[in-house]
Amino acid sequence: MHRRLHCVRCADRVLTVPELAGYSCGACGSNLVFRIQPASDLAQLIERDRGLPWRYHKLLPVEYEPGADDGLVPPVTRSRVLESRLGVARVWLVDCTVFGTGTFKDLEAAVVIAIAKQLGIGRISVHSTGNTALAYRHYAIRLGVTCAAFLPRMNIGKLGDIEPNLNAPIFAVDAEYAQVSDVAKRAAARDGIHHMAPLRWKLEGKATIAWLLRELQLQVDLIVQTVAGGYGVLGVETGFRRVATALGEPAVAPSRPGYLLFQPSDADTLVRAWNTGATELSQADLRLPRKPLEPTLQSTNPLATLPLLRRILPAETVFQSVPVQLVDDSKPVIDAALHDAGIDLDYGREKSAYISLAGLLHTQLRSSARLAVIITGSPPFQSGLAKDTWQVVKP
Ligand SMILES: [Zn+2]
Repeated sequence: MHRRLHCVRCADRVLTVPELAGYSCGACGSNLVFRIQPASDLAQLIERDRGLPWRYHKLLPVEYEPGADDGLVPPVTRSRVLESRLGVARVWLVDCTVFGTGTFKDLEAAVVIAIAKQLGIGRISVHSTGNTALAYRHYAIRLGVTCAAFLPRMNIGKLGDIEPNLNAPIFAVDAEYAQVSDVAKRAAARDGIHHMAPLRWKLEGKATIAWLLRELQLQVDLIVQTVAGGYGVLGVETGFRRVATALGEPAVAPSRPGYLLFQPSDADTLVRAWNTGATELSQADLRLPRKPLEPTLQSTNPLATLPLLRRILPAETVFQSVPVQLVDDSKPVIDAALHDAGIDLDYGREKSAYISLAGLLHTQLRSSARLAVIITGSPPFQSGLAKDTWQVVKP
């Protein structure tokens, strides 16, 4: 049985598979806690011959899963083009496009599918705007887990380079984005399939970005990222706290980096919530445009994530809205910077990195600032999506 997660209130309780998969205790309702092995220095926590997320497997509440290890460490490239353009001391670009399906979501997916396999959950379903479901599907196929992926029909064009697979069907939900989650969960319940993944499991793989920055010993002041639901930044912050705890440092060190987070102006739910001091949100507060600049950033997740963002992010965290037109207008400058850093992104396929970089180009920063920008998105398609790869479902 799984010995890495436990309930702090029910010390002797043997956790069941649904409790471990749900990251919460069925008896008292508490979130489970990861018991970390203390280490005297960071080197003891790194497996240098592995890629992310497994390079830091000692910091993860899941056993090493060789089949989910691509052996890849994202290149972290210093961008002198952006340093001079922004007038700051350092800009590092963390290139998450190198992973299995070309996005930051691969880190989450590798961990979630590994825990499903290790808990013996052979059939799962997932829903997302596209990237996350595609990433889960990728690792599920590799680890022999059956995985049904639900995404909004309007986002089907975001998929590419994928082969039909009977064990990994794709369902295009013909409904408003806000309904996709319900449709997926109802279908899972009807078919007796486990629906993944709860908030806490989604953070695990993303925490590895914090460990990579620690390993590289970059003295970063600000982490820059485009956010949708905020899982990415919650994961990174969870990572900084966990490694600090493992090393016997204060979990919230004064020297830890801050966050500069961007959303496109047509889907800036979290910007508005953060800047008005809101601590929770209702459905009516969600900004879900019918024709968004970037469909993969449509998110109902702020309903769940805002309270946790309030609880763990530094109070001085900045959430900023980026006017949609500014993203288009900034494209030539951003393309030049990405090209210089050797990063190949398809603007038509995903604009996430362009949104944060456009925002950054129009933000006043201290000249001593040292930034790490998480670059996620997708390289260009190799081929189109086969027509028989997905089927339509209605609510
Ligand atoms: Zn408990």
